[in-house]
Amino acid sequence: MKSKIYILIGPPGAGKGTQAKNIANTKDFVLISTGDLLRENVEKKTELGQIAKSYMDKGEFVPIDLVAKIIKANIQQNLGKNGFLFDGFPRDLSQNVLLDGMLKEFDLEVDKVIYIDVKDEAILERLTNRRVCPKCKKVYHMKFNKPKNDELCDDCGVPLITRDDDKPEVIKNRLATYHKSTHPLVEHFEKLGKVIRINGERTPKEVENEIISHI
Ligand code: AMP
Repeated sequence: MKSKIYILIGPPGAGKGTQAKNIANTKDFVLISTGDLLRENVEKKTELGQIAKSYMDKGEFVPIDLVAKIIKANIQQNLGKNGFLFDGFPRDLSQNVLLDGMLKEFDLEVDKVIYIDVKDEAILERLTNRRVCPKCKKVYHMKFNKPKNDELCDDCGVPLITRDDDKPEVIKNRLATYHKSTHPLVEHFEKLGKVIRINGERTPKEVENEIISHI
């Protein structure tokens, strides 16, 4: 049986990362999160990570040849699995052409695009309050999902951090890039009848239940 291919699209801070992990677990899909894969490379100070960091810190796209390398390796390693869920890729129409080419090589195609819709105002509020555990990557919100103990991770006990790209100037840049480059993908897939639009301004559990009900 062919692997199913799903893509998660939404502005930065829409909750894609959290949803992607839960959906991949529930549905036994291979999760390909380009942001996480790049951050892993940054942490390990690989050659790729060192180049990627300078772009990520400014909220700019990492050069596509670097991103394509890690994606292709991940697809190849997991061929034959139940399904793939992409988070953070494709990020613009040209990356989608690249994805199409990769999928064709493996005789696969995109099944559905899950679009998590959240307005800019809500995004700014969410991202400026976002903290993450550097160890287990658990995400907190300093108003609505606070850690029990000051700024320490509930599970690991280590101090939480603000992602370098969650600084207000960088958030504005990432949002502008989203509207200019990434959102046109939603219109592209809408024409193909492949978009499932989800209202992302609800609790994570409500959003998750709705997504699961569609796939
Ligand atoms: P994310 O965790 O998806 O918000 O991604 C964090 C950062 O990683 C982005 O702001 C980009 O700098 C970089 N990045 C993630 N995915 C891609 C991609 N598909 N193409 C280029 N850069 C990416």
